[in-house]
Amino acid sequence: MVNATRHSVNVRQNLPGTAVGVAFRPHRRRPPGAYAAAVDERQILVVEDDEAIGRGLSQALATQGYTVRWAPTAAVALRDATEAAPDLVLLDLGLPDLDGVELCRRLRAVSPGTTIVMLTARGAEIDVVVGLDAGADDYVTKPFRLAELLARVRAHLRRAEPAGRAGRLVVGSLELDIASHRMSVGGREVDLRPKEFDLLALLMAEAGRVVGRERIMAEVWDEHWFGSTKTLDMHISTLRKKLVDAGDVPNRLSTIRGVGYRLEPL
Ligand code: CA
Repeated sequence: MVNATRHSVNVRQNLPGTAVGVAFRPHRRRPPGAYAAAVDERQILVVEDDEAIGRGLSQALATQGYTVRWAPTAAVALRDATEAAPDLVLLDLGLPDLDGVELCRRLRAVSPGTTIVMLTARGAEIDVVVGLDAGADDYVTKPFRLAELLARVRAHLRRAEPAGRAGRLVVGSLELDIASHRMSVGGREVDLRPKEFDLLALLMAEAGRVVGRERIMAEVWDEHWFGSTKTLDMHISTLRKKLVDAGDVPNRLSTIRGVGYRLEPL
């Protein structure tokens, strides 16, 4: 992983007229489009019509080693997502040419395996709820601290990493393919929601080992999860049912009381 302390982008908070201001040198100004980097192959699409935020975020992410594209409109975002299938999309909900929630829905359709993180205005709880329903995985409220946003991006990409590198995880009759976002039991495909998929990917990557509740919440939901960890129990329960319904052994997912969960390598 790229060291978090490497980036040296200077963030100025509370700029008039902008939610977050990222300082950059004028001679390094670049238009929307590709921000190339060779260190990390993971691709991030920044969808943001505000020029200062869009360019600043793109530069900061490129400094972290990601390959970054910046789309100032929904039309460009859809084209880029279709062409490049980014690993993660940072999606500003307030765009000039299309409602951000509708764009989220369309992005989810053209790129099902992509992690979508919404950027929302403070106090827009309705946006958050509707956005999560539309297929977003997480949200960050503006104004945000750049360091926090980068940490969230790292957390999302880190949990995709072990399987992403291997491409495919196999435990017993379970097979999970990150790139195609497919999961099957004995060759029989199982339809999983994004969080169920991420949760199973983490447990499969750690098969035979207990994965603590806190780690699961941090890696699958992120540490700022606003709900209770009851959500985790509900997802485990749904996963158990889906796996058994698809013909898996009944004791695949063990509850380790007070600690977490273990996927049994049966
Ligand atoms: Ca905007």
